[in-house]
Amino acid sequence: MKALVYIEKKDGSPIGTSLEVLTAANALGADITAVSAAVPADCIDEDIVTSAVVAEARDGGYDIVLFAATTLGKIVAPRVAARLLAGSVNDAISIAADGDGFCVIRPVYGGTAQEKIGIAGKAVISVRSGSYEAAESVPEIKEITAPDADEIGIKILEAIAEAGEAVNLEDANIIVAGGRGMGSEEDFALCKELADILGGVVGATRPAIENGWINRTHQVGQSGKIVAPSVYIACGVSGATQHVSGMSGSKYIIAINKDEEAPIFDVADIGIVGDVKKILPLMIEEFKKKQG
Ligand SMILES: Cc1cc2nc3c(=O)[nH]c(=O)nc-3n(C[C@H](O)[C@H](O)[C@H](O)COP(=O)(O)OP(=O)(O)OC[C@H]3O[C@@H](n4cnc5c(N)ncnc54)[C@H](O)[C@@H]3O)c2cc1C
Repeated sequence: MKALVYIEKKDGSPIGTSLEVLTAANALGADITAVSAAVPADCIDEDIVTSAVVAEARDGGYDIVLFAATTLGKIVAPRVAARLLAGSVNDAISIAADGDGFCVIRPVYGGTAQEKIGIAGKAVISVRSGSYEAAESVPEIKEITAPDADEIGIKILEAIAEAGEAVNLEDANIIVAGGRGMGSEEDFALCKELADILGGVVGATRPAIENGWINRTHQVGQSGKIVAPSVYIACGVSGATQHVSGMSGSKYIIAINKDEEAPIFDVADIGIVGDVKKILPLMIEEFKKKQG
């Protein structure tokens, strides 16, 4: 079996989820070609990557094309599939060879159920972060180009940066997430303080964002980012399905909530019942002592 794996890069290095995609391809026993496309500054990523991958896939006779299920991967995978007349699934958590095709599992209904999808023949699939271990070694990455880059009609005239800082939650190793239970912007800052000490980043539930305590790039969940850090510390988060579906792939979950019946404790490895405003300062103090 031949697999084409698109390696998404950030600051010149493969992102963590792309390393997991390599493991998914290895698990299929596939002969892997890893590729990445350089995108000219005035072009749209999705257009260039789609065109470059389609050209490579057509020439190479691949059985499966794999992407990380990032914003880019989820847009490009179905476009590539349509041009190759292949089957397509976004957000796969498991892929197995099945006869001449593939059997794919993905979460549905905000992660409350899973569906199994059969693809006959060639497939183009994006893989959800946290579904596979990251590959330890990366094969040589071939630079591919869009043969029709000059003809792509849409060009970027001006790029306007989003207000507020950007955050790379998907690749974070530690996330300290705050929910409505943090109570106020001042107390929400405790999440940032703990995250900084641990070398992590801050995540948030939708109410924390709607309250203006942090910008929406930090939102974790169904309508935010899908994350899979080594450690996820949920502070004053109830554990609504729409939030949990974005963080249940975390390897170790610590939850702090004053309500011992809160659903977040169902997915937590360690549950602390108590007031976040008392517990977080204690944790911060202890970690500072350990470091100091
Ligand atoms: C279509 C759709 C998409 C959505 N997408 C998302 C999404 O992507 N991400 C997301 O997060 N939500 C999303 N939501 C909203 C989601 O349904 C929940 O409303 C939200 O996740 C709840 O956030 P929360 O846990 O911060 O707040 P709450 O549910 O209000 O929970 C607050 C928790 O804090 C605890 N608490 C209060 N005070 C303290 C204290 N002092 N110490 C300790 N604990 C305390 C309470 O016991 C409670 O459990 C979506 C909803 C819809 C309908």
